[in-house]
Amino acid sequence: MNAEIIAVGTELLMGQIANTNAQYLSSRLADLGINVYYHSVVGDNPGRLKVCLEQALERSDIVITTGGLGPTKDDLTKETIAEALELPLVIHQESLDYIRCFFEKQHRRMYNNNVKQAYLPSGCKVIPNHNGTAPGCIVQKGGKTVVMLPGPPKEMIPMFEDTVFPYFEGKTHYIIGSRVVKVFGIGESEMEMRIMDLVEQQTNPTIAPYAGAGEISLRVTAKCHTRDEVEALIAPVVERIRERLGSHVYSDTGETLEEVVLRLLSERRWTLSTAESCTGGMLASRLIDVPGASRVFDRGLVTYSNAAKVQELGVSQKTLDAWGAVSRETAKEMVEKLVERTKTTAGLAITGIAGPDGGTPEKPVGLVYVAASLNGRIESLQLNLRGNRQRVRTVSCLHALDLLRKMLLGT
Ligand code: ATP
Repeated sequence: MNAEIIAVGTELLMGQIANTNAQYLSSRLADLGINVYYHSVVGDNPGRLKVCLEQALERSDIVITTGGLGPTKDDLTKETIAEALELPLVIHQESLDYIRCFFEKQHRRMYNNNVKQAYLPSGCKVIPNHNGTAPGCIVQKGGKTVVMLPGPPKEMIPMFEDTVFPYFEGKTHYIIGSRVVKVFGIGESEMEMRIMDLVEQQTNPTIAPYAGAGEISLRVTAKCHTRDEVEALIAPVVERIRERLGSHVYSDTGETLEEVVLRLLSERRWTLSTAESCTGGMLASRLIDVPGASRVFDRGLVTYSNAAKVQELGVSQKTLDAWGAVSRETAKEMVEKLVERTKTTAGLAITGIAGPDGGTPEKPVGLVYVAASLNGRIESLQLNLRGNRQRVRTVSCLHALDLLRKMLLGT
C-alpha cells in the first residue's frame, strides 16, 4: 500500500507555519509499513485542491489530507473532496450533537456555520474529534481511501492515533507495537548525539523522537507477526537507549513524570505536598490530573506574594530580606516549612521569575529555584530557563518532579 499526504492551508504556503503534520503522519505511516511517496501543500483554494487530489488519487492507494475542516467559508477540503468523489454530504447527527455539547460545555455560542462541520460524505467512517469541533472521516471509493483530518496537531494527532492508525493496522498483515521512552533533563542535540546511530541503524524497530516543552519522547515501534516477536524486537532497543541516556530516562512505558513520582511515593505509602510561587498551582494541578493522586497528594499551597510565604508557610522575613523571594535560600525554607506544617514525607517548592517582566541583570527572567524535601533531606536546584512565561512555568514543574524522582531512586 502506498500513501500520500496533502496539507491544506494558505498559512503553510506563506511560511507562517511549518508542515509538521506531514512529518508526523509520514513517520507513523512508516510504522504501519505504508510507503509515503508524495507530500503536497495547497492553499485554501478549491480549484487547486481538486487538481492536487485528482493527481493523488491516480497514483496513490491512500490520500490523507489535513486542514480545511473548520467552520469558515475558506475551509473547503470536505466539500471539494466529496465533489471530486461524487459523494453527497449528509448530516451526521452524532457529530452535530457532539458539536452542540462542545459549545454548551464551554458556555460559547454555536453559530450556524458550525453545523457545516457535521456534514460528512455519505457512507464514510467518522473520526471523532475529542479536542475540537471538526470531525474527520475515512472515505473509500473505487479501491482508494481518502482520510480527512483537521489541521491543529493537538486535534489531528489523537484522531490519527485513536482511529486512523488502528484502521490501517487491521489492513496490513503485521502486528505493530510501540513503546514510548520518556526523557528529561537533556537537550535535544545532546540526546541526538548519544543515540543518533541507533536511530539511523534501526529499520525494525524504528525510533522516532518527538520534542515537547522540556521533554523528549522516543517512540520505538516494531512490526512482526506476533505480539511476542514485536516485544522481543523492542526490548533490546529500549535497553540500549537506557544505557545511552542513563537516569535521563524516566519511563519506558509512556508514563508522565508526575505519574512516575506518584507511583514511587505510593509504593512506599509516602505522601507529598507542594508550595508554589511562579508556577501558581500548576505543579499541584499536574499531580491531581493523575487518577489516584489522593493516595499520595496532601495539599498544594500557592504562596505568590512575600506576605503569603511568611503567613502560609512561615518563611522568615529575614531570609526574604537577605536573599530575596527568588533565591535558593527561600526555596529551601519554603519546602522545609511546608513539610513541617503538612507532615508529609515529601515536599516540593518552586520560586522564580517567569517573565516577561520582573527580571534584573542579577536575577533575569527564567531564573527559578526548585527545592525538594524527602524524609527530612532537602535538595535544591538553580535553573536558568529560556522561553516565554508558560514554558518557564511548565519546565520548572518538570524539574521539580524530576528532582524528587531522582531523590526517590537515590541517584
Ligand atoms: P479548525 O477546525 O481549527 O478551523 P482546520 O481543519 O480548518 O481546523 P486549519 O484552519 O487549516 O485547520 O488550520 C488550523 C491550525 O492548525 C493552523 O493555524 C495551524 O496552527 C495548524 N495547522 C494546520 N495545518 C498544519 C500542518 N500541516 N502542520 C502543522 N500545523 C498545522
